[in-house]
Amino acid sequence: MSGILSDKVSLITGAGSGIGRASAIAFAREGAQVVVSDIDAEGGEETVSRISEIGGQAIFVPADVSRAADVEALVQSTVQQYGRLDCAFNNAGVSGGQDLIHEYSEDDWDRVIDINLKGVWLCLKYEIIQMLEQGGGSIVNTASIMGLVGGSRSPSYGASKHGVVGLTRNAAVQYAQSGIRVNAVCPGYIRTPMTEQGALLGPGNEERIIARHPIGRLGAPEEIAETVVWLCSDAASFVTGHAMTVDGGYVAQ
Ligand code: NAP
Repeated sequence: MSGILSDKVSLITGAGSGIGRASAIAFAREGAQVVVSDIDAEGGEETVSRISEIGGQAIFVPADVSRAADVEALVQSTVQQYGRLDCAFNNAGVSGGQDLIHEYSEDDWDRVIDINLKGVWLCLKYEIIQMLEQGGGSIVNTASIMGLVGGSRSPSYGASKHGVVGLTRNAAVQYAQSGIRVNAVCPGYIRTPMTEQGALLGPGNEERIIARHPIGRLGAPEEIAETVVWLCSDAASFVTGHAMTVDGGYVAQ
């Protein structure tokens, strides 16, 4: 397949579901060779099957992004299989629950920060080691509108996503002269298993959440995927350190 990511070796975490799966399929459609990674092997293999069905190229490599050994092995497997790493989408993440700060448990805090923030740092670390060796690359991290504004719930989620925006800017500045671009995508509420399985889109709540988006609806995973494809591609060659909202106007208010 050929497109704006033709022959770009691309690694996507959290690609067994939601935004990551839609992105893996979009990357493959645009000609990338895709390494689909997730903690959930069943979901990851399903994404690979869907890519095969449209004639794309992909393999599944399991990894828990909060574990350094897993992430190091993931980048090594990518290079062993495809020879290099051109694009990375560090997207794996978990929601932070609904408790307020004074109700929040230390275990929940540590789990969310480990996956959503430390996980992005570990991915950046091992991806950048490889990209420095080969002379460049492009990385997108999944933050959130909750990385730009305060939210009424999920203290660790908001803190982790603000951290991802900061880390993205930090990495962009540190590696701009090495040919590595680093950006973040900040989705509004997107219809995925994360939002649909929790209480988030439960009865009564969905209308309240939709009302906060000036565009008058929730987003689709494919709308985030299109943005990430562009940010990773050479079409975005002068874009680095940007936290791009794809949120139906949520933070514009
Ligand atoms: P999703 O459908 O739940 O997909 C997330 C995937 O990441 C799942 O397959 C999940 O596996 C996997 N994962 C969880 N922990 C992991 C770990 N430690 N290592 C590797 N993979 C792990 O969620 P989504 O909505 O697509 O979210 C993707 C990203 O977008 C997240 O970073 C999320 O915070 C962000 N985001 C989502 C929204 C939204 O409204 N959906 C809005 C803004 C930002 P399990 O299912 O087994 O946990």
